[in-house]
Amino acid sequence: MVTLLLNAFVTQINNMNHYHTSDGERVAKSVIDSRVRDAKSNALSEQFYEYGYNFCEECEVSSGVYLDCSHTISVDEAQKTRRSELAWDVSNLRVLCRRCHAKHDKNNLRFG
Ligand SMILES: [Zn+2]
Repeated sequence: MVTLLLNAFVTQINNMNHYHTSDGERVAKSVIDSRVRDAKSNALSEQFYEYGYNFCEECEVSSGVYLDCSHTISVDEAQKTRRSELAWDVSNLRVLCRRCHAKHDKNNLRFG
């Protein structure tokens, strides 16, 4: 009985930590996170390679600010709609300064 309960609990935890891609691949949250990290560093590298420097794609500020990558379709939405691959799709990322990133996230919340 205890084993059954424990198994059910473990299954539940496992399901909670996995998401699907649109082609049916089941991906662990830890794998998604590491792919997102790689995609973000690729997005910054690609921009640097193309322009010779990094800048905010929204306000074009390039120095004295912290630049990060922002998801156009959020990781949360990608996971919920079984399109987890969007989380690590470089074309779903934009390089933004902290100010524009905060603005973007606020808009996303407002429009759900
Ligand atoms: Zn900006």
